[in-house]
Amino acid sequence: MAYPWSVRPLVESFEPYQPGLSMEEIRQRYGLSKVVKLASNENPFGVSPKVAEVIRNAAAYAHRYPQSGNPRLVRALASYYGVDGKRIFVGDGSDEIIDLLIRVKSEPGVSNIVAFKPCFGLYTTQTIFHGCELRQTPLNSDFTHDFDGLLSLVDDNTSLVLITSPDNPSGRLAPREKILEFAKKLPSSCLLVVDEAYIEFAGDPEKVSVIGDLETVPNLAVMRTFSKVYALAGLRIGYIILPEHLADCMWRVRLPFSLNIIAQEAAIAALADAPFREKSILQAEKGRTWLSEKLSGLGFEVIPSHSNFIMVKPPCSPKELNAYLLENGYIIRALSSYGLPDYLRISVGTDDDNHELISLISSFPGLK
Ligand SMILES: *Cc1c(COP(=O)(O)O)cnc(C)c1O
Repeated sequence: MAYPWSVRPLVESFEPYQPGLSMEEIRQRYGLSKVVKLASNENPFGVSPKVAEVIRNAAAYAHRYPQSGNPRLVRALASYYGVDGKRIFVGDGSDEIIDLLIRVKSEPGVSNIVAFKPCFGLYTTQTIFHGCELRQTPLNSDFTHDFDGLLSLVDDNTSLVLITSPDNPSGRLAPREKILEFAKKLPSSCLLVVDEAYIEFAGDPEKVSVIGDLETVPNLAVMRTFSKVYALAGLRIGYIILPEHLADCMWRVRLPFSLNIIAQEAAIAALADAPFREKSILQAEKGRTWLSEKLSGLGFEVIPSHSNFIMVKPPCSPKELNAYLLENGYIIRALSSYGLPDYLRISVGTDDDNHELISLISSFPGLK
């Protein structure tokens, strides 16, 4: 069909993001009363009651525009991390930050962006959408990060290198020293972005995060989110600490009101709610250890995880196992879209979810 309007030809090559079946769809399709979603690395405890209260109160201000630049949230983050607020940028989820950073830092048709394969889907879609060349090198076969391979793709037109640690979907942590060594080898115009969406689950922050190295490594940025440990995925709040000049550039072009009033107040309250954060971290650590042991015992290959999920290779058809779990109300993540059709990713749930999942898997007829 011919349309009278024109569209960037590139746009026709995109497909809408496929989030998988919703809990409601699964409930209806299989006539289930209870559905458990362990597919999107969400926090199994739900929203902290303290934060829920703040969200209810913030509803009274929904008729107001947010303060442009979200200064209250920026100040809270600056004080929490002891960094200058001028280096902080906040966005409508990490998604908005990645999208904007690519556009701020890259020249269409000239710049290239370097990442691992597989990587977070948004790194690749936004790079291509903004007319930049995407360069990818495979992770090692055990899913550890191959920094030499990554470096071999970098040249003077590389605007960004995007890495995730702990990685999604493998759960592997890149050693901090390796990241720093790699950053120092990059051309000074190239920014290394470390996406630390899951770093809170990875152990002692001083040892595993590069956030303390931002002062000494000038071309380094660290991105984090309120979607995982803070249980606010639905409100869309991400932040990045980056060189002051780049933060300033991001603010110049960000849509003025992208991070809404309710999200901002929820984020400030969540940051202050240390007991909930600690409880969530403990659950991820305890749950992934328990699930890993049980699944190894059932013959699964388990990739060692530093995160709130585990990636596994079942000793049976992953497709059939996934279908069986769905029929019984358990949604986990197939990884074909990451190019890993032999693997599955399971988010750590509550103790009850985890126990029920393991007994379900144990009873799967396809498991010999
Ligand atoms: C979940 C996740 C994020 C967080 O994205 P938001 O847009 O902040 O919800 C970022 N990076 C990776 C790799 C993730 O898995």
